[in-house]
Amino acid sequence: MQVAACGVCRTDLHVVDGELPNPKLPIVPGHEIVGRIDKVADGTDALSIGQRVGVPWLAQTCGQCRYCRNGSENLCDRPLFTGYTRDGGYATHVVADARYVFALPQDGDDIATAPLLCAGLIGWRSLQIAGDGQKIGLYGFGAAAHIIAQVACWQGREVFAFTRKGDDAAQAFARTLGARWSGSSEDAPPEPLDCAIIYAPVGSLVPLALRAVRKGGRVVCAGIHMTDIPSFPYDILWHEREIKSVANLTRQDGEEFFKIVPKARIRTETVSYPLTRANEALADLRNGRLRGAAVLVP
Ligand SMILES: [Zn+2]
Ligand SMILES: [Zn+2]
Repeated sequence: MQVAACGVCRTDLHVVDGELPNPKLPIVPGHEIVGRIDKVADGTDALSIGQRVGVPWLAQTCGQCRYCRNGSENLCDRPLFTGYTRDGGYATHVVADARYVFALPQDGDDIATAPLLCAGLIGWRSLQIAGDGQKIGLYGFGAAAHIIAQVACWQGREVFAFTRKGDDAAQAFARTLGARWSGSSEDAPPEPLDCAIIYAPVGSLVPLALRAVRKGGRVVCAGIHMTDIPSFPYDILWHEREIKSVANLTRQDGEEFFKIVPKARIRTETVSYPLTRANEALADLRNGRLRGAAVLVP
């Protein structure tokens, strides 16, 4: 297919930095791809030439392992991932397995849609895993949090946004998207949270989030990679608090999420870069210089 836009995800930084095991090398990164089909393999009837589609992180699963058989294909024993173990969307064209591609509305803004393919999808999965608590904390207010804050507000929840200390711009941005409170990650929220999702790859946020949630509250780690979690007193986990991680996505997550996008009127904040400036986009993401999500345009 022909790539129209490809989002830049924090996972791409982990791939580029060699922080994830066994990548395909050399690898073309990028797993938030929006484009149009320009060729289909014989026997593929689900997709047609010219169709607008999205290619996510989950590129292929085995369909046979215990996880695939029980509806948890996100945990497949023999998966392939776009832009990590299979070439991705920092390109003009990409080859994808038709069974793992999402059909998108034929008209739409390609750049605005790209971040939905991972920040949106993994964000959606992490929101479901966080449970249905009313007061939800989001740690790290980047691409995923800025989408999920909108979904959570649409669901009628109260969002508390935590950013790097002194990042007034991100804190103000969070409030424009409906957050009831925003502040620094070291701050205690004005009241105990029911659940929290950590999007920043920073292990020291785990004890901070545990301290912010109420008894029985849940802390979800939504990234693929995180720095070591420092030791912490058992006391802050006690009272049935939980820590859980989120891995990958299922195709069902995608089907659900893309139905919600128009209902919740999700709008994404993007900064676009020509494909030739991909390294600049990665550097801006690394240095926290972005508001919203970076998107590459070939
Ligand atoms: Zn499998
Ligand atoms: Zn991603």
